[in-house]
Amino acid sequence: MTQQPVFRFAPSPNGRLHLGHALSALLNDEMARRVGGAFLLRIEDIDQTRARPEFEAGIIEDLDWLGLTFPERPRRQSEHLPAYRNALDRLAAMGLVYPSTLSRAEIRAAVAAAETKTGQPWPRDPDGAPLYPGTERDFSTAARAEIVQADKPFSWRLDMARAIAATARPLTWLETGAGHAGETGVVTADPAAWGDVILSRSDAPSSYHLSVTVDDAEQGVTHVVRGRDLFHATSVHRLIQTLLGLPVPVYHHHRLILGPDGRKLSKSNGDTAIAAYREAGMEAQALRALVLGDQG
Ligand code: GLU
Repeated sequence: MTQQPVFRFAPSPNGRLHLGHALSALLNDEMARRVGGAFLLRIEDIDQTRARPEFEAGIIEDLDWLGLTFPERPRRQSEHLPAYRNALDRLAAMGLVYPSTLSRAEIRAAVAAAETKTGQPWPRDPDGAPLYPGTERDFSTAARAEIVQADKPFSWRLDMARAIAATARPLTWLETGAGHAGETGVVTADPAAWGDVILSRSDAPSSYHLSVTVDDAEQGVTHVVRGRDLFHATSVHRLIQTLLGLPVPVYHHHRLILGPDGRKLSKSNGDTAIAAYREAGMEAQALRALVLGDQG
């Protein structure tokens, strides 16, 4: 028996859905229908400092208005913390993570100092953030234990070089969309571009990278259809999948809907919220046509 394709839409409940989310959800639905697949909703509420129940209710309301209903109860990340902990423990047992206390401000300061000293720009990740500049990865077992036992907040970082060495082969995925800038077909992952990414922190028990990878595997997701702003993140997801022996979905990164300023929409662009169009009297069918337009 061949496996039924499984698609998912995975918004974070930290604002109202906007036109870009509508495009993503509608494309998932359309692609799932085309292949007789299932379409799941996942609520990515791992960041409890930003997630709010009224936004989750708003997500369901907006999707429902668009004609997207989900027979299964959505998976809520906050209800699956042990699964992420287990994945982290497995990576720890492989010697691939280390505790790190450097705050974002300390990282910025260290990077600025290094740039002044060398006159060279410090390497940035695909999202533009400076790569982790610290030396905590080389700490002794005793020094690491001290960090874990102290009161100060700390994060678990992936030792990227060791993690890549542990996979011992180039990682690839099948891209059926247009990638980030036209990459399509078999794409070679480049997780090193991200440096020592955070996998969990004291105030958020799992990172986006870790939870999305674990969830896609636990939900049997075979097709990940999402905005091309997450194209580069797929490199980290492929690495974690390989380290943990998880199945690899097909990826389809679609175009983004840009705001009037030419930038990607964010949840703070209230005027492009699906709810704003609905409240202004637009019909769902018209909004579908507006976002799907020339297809993703
Ligand atoms: N939760 C992510 C977001 O709202 C999407 C994650 C994904 O599709 O992989 O941007």
